[in-house]
Amino acid sequence: MQDIHQRIRDIQHFGEEGGVVPVIDVASTSTFLNPEDMERAFHGEMEGCYLYSRHSNPSVNMFSKKMAALEGMEFGLGTASGMSAISSALEQIMGDGGEIISSLTVYGGTYALFKNVFPQQGIQVKFVNIEDLQEVERAITPRTKVIYTETLSNPLLRVSPLQKLGDLCRKRNIKLVVDNTFTPMLINPSVFGADVVVHSCTKFISGASDLIAGVVLSSKKFIHELIDLNHGRIMLKGPVMDPRIAHELYLRLDHLPIRMKAHSAAAQYFAENVEKAGIKIIYPGLKSHNQHDLMKSMMNPGYGFGGMMAIDMKESKKAMRLAQRLQDEKFGLYAVSLGFSRTLMSCPSVSTSSEITAEDQAKMNLSPGLLRLSIGFVGDHQIMLERFVKCYRECEKHNP
Ligand SMILES: *Cc1c(COP(=O)(O)O)cnc(C)c1O
Repeated sequence: MQDIHQRIRDIQHFGEEGGVVPVIDVASTSTFLNPEDMERAFHGEMEGCYLYSRHSNPSVNMFSKKMAALEGMEFGLGTASGMSAISSALEQIMGDGGEIISSLTVYGGTYALFKNVFPQQGIQVKFVNIEDLQEVERAITPRTKVIYTETLSNPLLRVSPLQKLGDLCRKRNIKLVVDNTFTPMLINPSVFGADVVVHSCTKFISGASDLIAGVVLSSKKFIHELIDLNHGRIMLKGPVMDPRIAHELYLRLDHLPIRMKAHSAAAQYFAENVEKAGIKIIYPGLKSHNQHDLMKSMMNPGYGFGGMMAIDMKESKKAMRLAQRLQDEKFGLYAVSLGFSRTLMSCPSVSTSSEITAEDQAKMNLSPGLLRLSIGFVGDHQIMLERFVKCYRECEKHNP
């Protein structure tokens, strides 16, 4: 398969006067020289013709095409946020109702959408252990339309068996929808049979923690359904991407491969040495992670295991004390989100996963003392490691 980096490289757009960067097309509406063409456009007969920016926009289109190339998908559509990418894609597939089988270990916002909002729209969601194929298969009914999972789960860093899920979906005529937010470049869910891939572009794809955005990647047919003038969930509910944001992200995709490698290199060095210091750490790049080989078998070579890891301090108070010390020592910033150039830390049980009921948190083995780390690449790796080990030892002493 062609290297993913080259796929991005081969997407080229020019500015109006031959500039090496495309211009931002901010127009909300486009002129029709022939009024009859506008009528035809409204009947969907003018492919490639721009009408109104909620329907399609040249700058958003350029970004979406580059993302589609990155994910090995046919087509894409930038959205206002990761959540709108998830909700719009699923609502479009589910239509007037039915069932979704979802991994229990998903992002807290996704969990709340599935648990509290979708049932009010006639969409039922069954949460399962996505690693247990028999449990997944048993959950399928004639009403099941989608299996939903995250490639690498937030925050527990469990790896989804995408090939097996893809095969199951083919066999049972169900759509596989995968959130690939933690692993852009590293893993392409399309290779394993994902029908729809979504991203929160707010994270690694932005890389600067400066904007909210998302993207849906799928077949041309499905993307056209999303912007259909009469039934499209993006067109009619309107969570579109602003062309200025699309332009920013378009440019940043050129250095996403370098950034992902840098995150992986920093994280791998950190995790290996923290483990050597006798501190237990959860990172799929370590042989001690029981899905290390599974993840390796799914990865594009050369990008590493990514920047996400977690450490279990058992109690949330202890995790927060460690985070506080680490912040004081300028190891990282105590903030939700991830994929920033600098290290971000948070306690999921009391923040990004607090939407998940205590019962479900226990069922998915989400420890109240889990501290999630999104490892940045700015700074000296060795100094960062020393700061971490020092703070960790202090916290251990403080509370033996
Ligand atoms: C952050 C996140 C989302 C939500 O994305 P937004 O851009 O904040 O709407 C969805 N899935 C995962 C895995 C995330 O980390």
